[in-house]
Amino acid sequence: MASPEARARRQVRCPRCGAGCEWTGNPHRPFCSLECRLIDLGAWLDERYCVPGPELPTDSESLGPGTPSGG
Ligand SMILES: [Zn+2]
Repeated sequence: MASPEARARRQVRCPRCGAGCEWTGNPHRPFCSLECRLIDLGAWLDERYCVPGPELPTDSESLGPGTPSGG
């Protein structure tokens, strides 16, 4: 019978460096450390500023047919 503690201790792989780190109680998850977290964040921000422009959806669709005035 597996103890609940064993199940709670989940190990994840850092998406930045690939090092194994604990998920539970890890403030930098899914990263192994603050360093990896900042590196990933920096890369993300850099990519964000590099893109020419985000593709914004055009909300030209009207809500519906105009309501007849009167009352
Ligand atoms: Zn890492």
